[in-house]
Amino acid sequence: MPIIPFGSLVDDETSLEDLLASLLSDQEGILSTDSALKPSRQRSTVELLQAIRGISSRKDLRLCGLNWKCGSGIFCPRCTPRLNGYLIPAVAQAVREAHFSAFATFNIAHRPGDKLLTLKGAMSAGWTQTTSGADWSKLREKHGVSGWVRAWDFTYSEWAGWNPHIPVIFTFEKIPDLTEFRQEISHRWVHGLRKSGHDALAVRQYVRERYGTPDQLARYLLHNDPMRHTPERNGMVAPSSTIGDILGAMADAVQDGDIDAPAIRLWREYEGALFRQHAVTPSQSVRPALTEARRRAKNGWQGQRVTASGTHR
Ligand SMILES: [Zn+2]
Repeated sequence: MPIIPFGSLVDDETSLEDLLASLLSDQEGILSTDSALKPSRQRSTVELLQAIRGISSRKDLRLCGLNWKCGSGIFCPRCTPRLNGYLIPAVAQAVREAHFSAFATFNIAHRPGDKLLTLKGAMSAGWTQTTSGADWSKLREKHGVSGWVRAWDFTYSEWAGWNPHIPVIFTFEKIPDLTEFRQEISHRWVHGLRKSGHDALAVRQYVRERYGTPDQLARYLLHNDPMRHTPERNGMVAPSSTIGDILGAMADAVQDGDIDAPAIRLWREYEGALFRQHAVTPSQSVRPALTEARRRAKNGWQGQRVTASGTHR
């Protein structure tokens, strides 16, 4: 059993799960099965786009980089960093303007073999249940919730299957009782999931005061991008794979001509489940700022589309 330095490894809930997974997998000897989902090396945007072209079922993604920009903030190794360049400052500004803000994550019970589309559908419906209706209005008023913006975070491991999280930034117009708010919203979340036949543990939903600067928080909210890899920490590789890991491993498999590789199957499942999904979903109060950020990003792209140098990056 390796000695795991807690302070360096556990910096968010996902890492806590990774820690648990590493302990389990170390005992059961299944850690090696996940190495197929870690890329052999860091690849350039062009290499990743070429791999996507070989296997993607999405035409806009296959064409991205060929004098075309797909504009996806959740699949595309080329467009995601550009879109984030506009979205992150807009989210950070909403945090800066709020009297108080909190960071939350919501999860769902899952097991190997669960379809990502099913889990994601249940979570989307659960979120709508959580943040609508008369009881939500009462809860908002009681704690002074002025808005929220949510994103997605997905990891995958052999031992747990797809592990989706919804990271959320809540903004408040007064200082809330966070303990009470956490209990009440966790209860609503669990109740919302049950309506679609799914489950979660109320104690595993997190809400806490924000940490870091508004920019760091906004960056953290949007960290599920296809360029993000799990870092190796103190010589230990996390046993779950990020979308970036899966994309990189998929590129390895395409290069090797291994069309049956798990990474290819997982990337296709991810594409199918996240079709037309925006990187962030805001509440009504935050929406205008994010719509404006997306508009500016789009204008920037259109301006570059006519230049030949903008086609292969
Ligand atoms: Zn693109």
